[in-house]
Amino acid sequence: MKYDYLIVGAGLYGAVFAHEAKQKGKTVLVIDKRPNVAGNVYTEEIEGINVHKYGAHIFHTNDKRVWEYVNGFAEFNRFTNSPVANYHGELYSLPFNMYTFNKMWGVVTPEEAEAEIKRQREQAGIKEPKNLEEQAISLVGKDIYEKLIKGYTEKQWGRPCTELPSFIIKRLPVRFTFDNNYFNALYQGIPIGGYTKMVENMLDGVEVRLNTDYLENKAEFDKLSKKVVYTGPIDAYFEFKLGTLEYRSVRFETEVLDKPNFQGNAAVNYTDRETPWTRIIEHKWFEFGTRPKTVISREYSSEWKRGDEPYYPVNDEKNGKLYQEYKKLAENEKNIIFGGRLGEYKYYDMDAVIASALDTCSKELK
Ligand code: UDP
Repeated sequence: MKYDYLIVGAGLYGAVFAHEAKQKGKTVLVIDKRPNVAGNVYTEEIEGINVHKYGAHIFHTNDKRVWEYVNGFAEFNRFTNSPVANYHGELYSLPFNMYTFNKMWGVVTPEEAEAEIKRQREQAGIKEPKNLEEQAISLVGKDIYEKLIKGYTEKQWGRPCTELPSFIIKRLPVRFTFDNNYFNALYQGIPIGGYTKMVENMLDGVEVRLNTDYLENKAEFDKLSKKVVYTGPIDAYFEFKLGTLEYRSVRFETEVLDKPNFQGNAAVNYTDRETPWTRIIEHKWFEFGTRPKTVISREYSSEWKRGDEPYYPVNDEKNGKLYQEYKKLAENEKNIIFGGRLGEYKYYDMDAVIASALDTCSKELK
């Protein structure tokens, strides 16, 4: 056996594991079926702008250990995410905060905003929210649900809000202050020079083979190492034998525009049902860009089918049960660790992926 670890997938989980294993004197090989490292955080320079090719990623965390860790591989800028919602041309501040409430209802004080939300919640008669719709209405009232949540969520997930788990909407803060920061995190920013560079730094000195598909040649690869760290989809590993876990996929239409400023913000969410895309990202604003041109990406959400890139696990009850079955199979496999958004079928943020990889490393790499 040539290596201590074969790491399948050069995304954040794989790159962190590879780095830590190498630090501990282990021999590692990282393989990835894509032509590039960095998984879905991959950025590519176009017109001098770091374009988030697999969707926008804003690093944010409350975990000092994780923040210090990533700062070891990149310097971070002071970007603060504050998306704008566009509902049929009406613009609202996100996340839901006093600017949003003022624009929606003309309320001026936090008490007035809270009273309006309470009134709408009571009118809807919701006591214990059972799904995303009820959760959203009880947090921000019916008007905001209908203009800023319902259309966006149903485009994003392809399912009615009454059939989606409420935790999805709890990702967003609701604030009775004038604060457009999308995250409640202590630390936030974008790696200067792009995520690809950051991941390359993690993988410095590690052997990496790209355009290499583990599942196509599993038996051969398994001969190479004592252990495997697998960060691909858990159901694909088991050849979908218990059924297919559902994912949402995203299609991007990226355009270079010969103008310096298209929308004046990194992210504009189109929250009505009629606009076919969910959001438009203008990449230069992640890095306070000054280039004469701009690059934008329209995001279209679709149901994942085999052969597509999986992005978002659909963590509802049905898929949760199926995942638990796969997890049992995984626990019976010898010498393999399943990790990351696809390996654990979990709607993980970047910081949580890194924390989980570091935790596994501290148990595994003695
Ligand atoms: N969401 C919404 N309206 C928005 C933005 C988000 O209803 O303008 C909901 C939607 O259901 C989405 C969820 O909040 O899936 C989480 O949003 P987040 O921005 O965290 O999603 P991500 O950036 O991971 O796609």
